[in-house]
Amino acid sequence: MITISGKTVCTGVAFGPVFVFSREESTIKRFHIESSEAEITRFEKAREQAILELDTLYNKAIGEVGEANAMIFQIHQMMLEDLDYIESIKNIITDQLINAETAVGQTCDNFVQMFRAMDDDYMRERSADVKDVSERLIKILSGKDKSGIIADEPVIIIADDLAPSETVQFDKTKILAFVTEGGSTSSHTSILARMMNIPAVIGAKDALNSSFNGKPAIADGFTGTLYIDPDDQTIAAMTKKKQEIEKKTALLQQLKGQASITKDGHKIELCANIGNILDVGAVLKNDAEGIGLFRSEFLYLESETYPSEDIQFGAYKEVLSKMVNKRVIIRTLDIGADKQVDYFNMPHEENPAMGIRAIRICLQRPDIFKVQLRALYRASVFGRLAIMFPMIASEWEILKVLEIIDEVKHELDSEGISYSKNIELGCMIETPAAAVISDILAKHLDFFSIGTNDLTQYTLAADRQNPDIGEFCDTHHTAVLRLINMIVKNAHANGTWVGICGELGADIELTEAFLAIGIDELSVTPSAVLTIRKKVRETNVSEIKDNVLKKYLIQ
Ligand code: PEP
Ligand code: MG
Repeated sequence: MITISGKTVCTGVAFGPVFVFSREESTIKRFHIESSEAEITRFEKAREQAILELDTLYNKAIGEVGEANAMIFQIHQMMLEDLDYIESIKNIITDQLINAETAVGQTCDNFVQMFRAMDDDYMRERSADVKDVSERLIKILSGKDKSGIIADEPVIIIADDLAPSETVQFDKTKILAFVTEGGSTSSHTSILARMMNIPAVIGAKDALNSSFNGKPAIADGFTGTLYIDPDDQTIAAMTKKKQEIEKKTALLQQLKGQASITKDGHKIELCANIGNILDVGAVLKNDAEGIGLFRSEFLYLESETYPSEDIQFGAYKEVLSKMVNKRVIIRTLDIGADKQVDYFNMPHEENPAMGIRAIRICLQRPDIFKVQLRALYRASVFGRLAIMFPMIASEWEILKVLEIIDEVKHELDSEGISYSKNIELGCMIETPAAAVISDILAKHLDFFSIGTNDLTQYTLAADRQNPDIGEFCDTHHTAVLRLINMIVKNAHANGTWVGICGELGADIELTEAFLAIGIDELSVTPSAVLTIRKKVRETNVSEIKDNVLKKYLIQ
């Protein structure tokens, strides 16, 4: 048995075979060929296989994300039928007598350059599709798989680190646990693991070893341990642990339908965070009282190009309808930092967490922002929508956002399209600047949602992506808790309500502190809802308030 230790990100115990995820080398081997005819036949076969693969992906995507989103795979199929593209590859093979992989690579580069030089936004965006289609062909030609995950059965994934854009591509039903050598507890990949409620271990040094592939393993998310080839004693101990969790989870089910109210009558709204439509199932299953954060940027991350107004409308409408009349807070796109999307073609930044991300992109590129706002306003008639804006640091940003919203409303009015007149508007408080001017921001908004992941990293100058930051990123730091207290005071003085949607909201050690401070809502990963409800119902605020505020030096 080999024991590998790391840090825990999401609790739970998983048993299963290991799948070592290695990123494919994108370098293409160039070699000369004897017969162009045989090479063209090889290319044609790969092209046919790629079309078939896209067909399968299209059918699978229809069920998972709806027809409009699945269309991208049909567009890719059409590209593989494009005569100019095919002819270019065949000509390179014939003229230069080189292998099909190289010919596809060269054609791809030429087409990407050509698309990027076009004036039309839509055509420029097609460059990412040409790249994707060409990579698929090259991987088939060179015998490498495109998705990275080829397992038929569910697996424990070991990787060096995973970007959110990679994590979202995995078939969730095939993942038992994540184990990464790198990573940090508040990175978006960790957040995704919590959302999927699967055990996850990060910082597991020496885990990425291809000889582990296919071996039986156990991931213990409680201690952050991975056991490869576990011995009988470990199997027995872990089986017991798993059964105990199942028992605890079963007990928590009794809290479904109960109010999230303290012993002395303080009510708090307990909501859940989601990243896509499929997560709504877990929200309902765990009896969350609403959705406190829909990270809409995942619609962009999961897509090969800008999701259109109709595609977004479909997604928002579905979430709102499924939640019936419970509040759904949709955050406008928060692209940037670790959530990079190729087709946004953002210039390289030295320090992307402080660069052009989130609302900054939206204000610099209002055309993209307006598409999302139109989709949101159109969907608003299907439920109880609230909208919030990420990474706000200044009052002028909110004023500008409100101005753009007015423009969108006028457009919809003139087109005779109806929308709800009761949409609550709020912003994330995740920069120290926003916290400090929360009294000013509160005058313009119905609610705040505190993004403790970013608020902590910016307040403590401690990169949330850095796995080695350790004790320098103290999530219980007095500075952060004092800011939260200040935000609540400023907000309440102006009739604005306050929630927390960062990961800290699910930290059971701080539930009493949040109740003492007077937080109105907590939005957490769906599987944490009932545990927190239990804690809330066991708390008597008047009894603990003074001690808790003193303990953390909040007041
Ligand atoms: C946060 O910063 O706390 C937050 C909820 O937003 P994200 O984690 O998506 O940056
Ligand atoms: Mg944030």
